[in-house]
Formats: sequence, C-alpha cells, structure tokens
Amino acid sequence: MPDIRNIVILTGAGISAESGLATFRGPDGLWEGHRVEDVCTPEALARNPALVHRFYDERRAKLTEVTPNAAHAALAELDRAWPGELLIVTQNVDDLHERAGANRMLHMHGELMSALCAACGTSKPWHDALPPETPCPFCNAPALRPDIVFFGEMPYEMDRIDAALRDADLFVSIGTSGAVYPAAGFVQTARHIGARTLELNLDSSAGSIYFDETRTGPASVLVPDWVKEVLQL
Ligand code: NAD
Ligand code: ZN
Repeated sequence: MPDIRNIVILTGAGISAESGLATFRGPDGLWEGHRVEDVCTPEALARNPALVHRFYDERRAKLTEVTPNAAHAALAELDRAWPGELLIVTQNVDDLHERAGANRMLHMHGELMSALCAACGTSKPWHDALPPETPCPFCNAPALRPDIVFFGEMPYEMDRIDAALRDADLFVSIGTSGAVYPAAGFVQTARHIGARTLELNLDSSAGSIYFDETRTGPASVLVPDWVKEVLQL
C-alpha cells in the first residue's frame, strides 16, 4: 500500500444496522415505515410538526436500547491509535460512534440527541421527547425542532469536510448507499486529489464504480479487519 497518513472515513446507516437501527431506504424504500418526504423535509415539518417530532422522538428513544457494534469499536480504536490526520464524517444521526469512543468525528446530517432552535439557530443537547413549540432556552421562541439536516438543507461542517478531503491520502466509505448528495460526491473529490478510495458495504452501491476497491460483507466483520490491516501498515 502507498504511504498513507491522512484518512477520511464516511459512514452511513449501514454501520449501525447490526446494532439494530434500521437503514434509511431499507428493503421497502422507507425509514421505519415512513416515506422520506413525510419525515425528512422542511415542508413535512411545516405541514405536520406533530408527526415529524414524534418520528424523531421514537428514533431518539430507540437509541437507549442499542449499543455500538464491532465496526464502531474498530473505528474508535483507529481514532485512538492513528498517528496521522483522521476524520470520521458520519451521515448518521445516532450517537454510536461517540459512544464507542471516537473523538475525531462530526455529524454532517445532525444528531438525534440535539435540539435546534429554528428562530435563533442555537443547538443544545437533548435526550428526552421534544414536543412541537418547545421554547428555546436561549431566545424563548417556541421553536425547538429536531437537530436533523433535512433534504434541501445545508449539511453541517462542509468546510471542515472539504479541507480534510483535500489532504486525504485514503478515503473510506462504510455502509452508505451513495445516493444522498453531497456525501455521495466525496469519493469523487477524494479521487480528484489523488487519494486511494475504498468502499466497505454489504453489497456494492450506486457509487461503487468510483472506488479503487469495494469489499462486500457486514460492517462488523469488514471494518475490524480493515482497521487491523491499516494499523499494521
Ligand atoms: P442508506 O440506508 O441509504 O444505505 C444503507 C447502506 O448500508 C446500503 O448501501 C446497504 O447496502 C448498507 N448496509 C446495510 N447493512 C449493512 C451492514 N450490516 N454492513 C455494511 N453495510 C450495510 O443509508 P445512508 O446512505 O446513510 O443514507 C443516508 C441517510 O439516512 C442519512 O442522511 C442518515 O441521516 C439517515 N439515517 C440515519 C440512520 C442512523 O443514524 N443510524 C438510520 C437511518 C437513516
Ligand atoms: Zn432560540
């Protein structure tokens, strides 16, 4: 393997599937029985706040019943041990990476365990149910909403992600369908700057053609194997 110092890892719902969290599209194209348009857009939130808040309340409550799996643990180990730059960019809104112990990470699509004020833009940790019109502790507007980046909204920390991608020697995509932009385009940015690109997924994805290498199988097996490999470089 060529000299690798800086690593960017993109994770998606597939890395949390073996912890018991349903993936986005699932076998039936739904997220926990709901159409994406009904729970994952600003229009849905405006039209039916009760439904959207309840949906994320259920997802947040479910997090207390699940634990990180071997894939999250392996990435946390890599984060601890890797001497070069490392950034884990997750599209997931669960908190399994941080509960496994990862530090060099960010949530580009928001977090279930956070509430965002639609009036003043402040966010704060939130662990309980979040009824519509909950007042913001900072500005008092009855405007707290789930801190989730909906379709049509700007993902978080794109500048930091771009900077990490520009310096990357290796880009690894784990358990993501490669269907949601801008994350789906990271592999092309990484290739463009000359990084090696590796996909770890249960099956090959829409984006597989862009990767130097695709390994197929469950994340709980592929990720620990790959981390062992990379730490023995
Ligand atoms: P996706 O559901 O579109 O795709 C999941 C991918 O994971 C598929 O390519 C599938 O082949 C793969 N996969 C399934 N089981 C796997 C396993 N055991 N090991 C390895 N790969 C496996 O997920 P996505 O691309 O992350 O979709 C994006 C959106 O879904 C994100 O915006 C995210 O916020 C949202 N989402 C998050 C969660 C979560 O936080 N856990 C759950 C569902 C959806
Ligand atoms: Zn506010």
